Amino acid sequence: MATCSDEIDCARRLIAAAPRIVVLTGAGISAESGVPTFRGAEGLWQRYRPEQLASPEAFADDPRLVWEWYGWRRTRVAACQPNAAHLALARFALAHGKTLIVTQNVDGLHADAALAAAGDVDPGPALPIELHGNMFSVRCTACQRVWRDTAAVDASSRDTLPTCPECRALARPHVVWYGESLDGAQISHALCQAELAAACVVIGTSGVVQPAASIAAVTAQAGGEVIEINPDETPLTALCSVSIRSGAVAAVPDIFDLGSEPAEGRVQ
Ligand code: NAD
Ligand code: ZN
Repeated sequence: MATCSDEIDCARRLIAAAPRIVVLTGAGISAESGVPTFRGAEGLWQRYRPEQLASPEAFADDPRLVWEWYGWRRTRVAACQPNAAHLALARFALAHGKTLIVTQNVDGLHADAALAAAGDVDPGPALPIELHGNMFSVRCTACQRVWRDTAAVDASSRDTLPTCPECRALARPHVVWYGESLDGAQISHALCQAELAAACVVIGTSGVVQPAASIAAVTAQAGGEVIEINPDETPLTALCSVSIRSGAVAAVPDIFDLGSEPAEGRVQ
């Protein structure tokens, strides 16, 4: 494998030459914003596996415990800002158009970066597909109404949990839990774009949660290049023509800051 700086140069060239790009991100891109990955969970939450809390069964058994976990995560994330990697991707998508950002993250930082980068222009091209939802959205368990809710969660008792403003039924985080299906239109769109993409850039995901992980495989099977940015190897590494073993903040701005002059030439 070439040295890291060569890998970054290869990635820049591939991205500059690609008519379409899909970027798939996971918890690792937000780690340097201070958002814990599941593997980095702290305190009380080290005693639980995410599967024990992020499931419809867990919510049915103990909605107070599940809301307490989301309340803790929301407080942590509310104190975080998009980092240089989120911002570089948003600026690139706004400037070059040809990019679809697909995230497994529920922290909303890509959307925040899109708004920050857009200023007065339409942030649309930089807004991500949030495959697993957003922790600042909630959904009524009865009438299915969805709304944005950034307030602190009071999980001191079952009676203080968020409820629907319409029908007063218990609300739940509007995220996709283990055992639940993704939004069909969103995943179809992501897979379709992955098939058309000349390059899929995979950043900060362990590549084990399906169907998100198959996005990179679809690009590879269709003849596109897969570029991975992750300090560790993952099951997706075998698909990659370029693997950059570093954190997102050290690599993504270098790769995506192409300036006004796209780099010339194609990687042979
Ligand atoms: P994961 O925790 O399984 O894997 C994180 C990956 O990021 C690892 O491969 C790790 O090596 C890599 N990584 C760590 N630090 C990095 C850095 N600085 N730069 C680049 N990569 C780095 O995360 P996942 O693959 O996204 O899957 C976990 C599931 O958990 C997803 O479904 C997601 O919805 C959810 N989750 C989301 C958040 C969030 O919204 N920020 C946080 C935790 C978990
Ligand atoms: Zn309702």
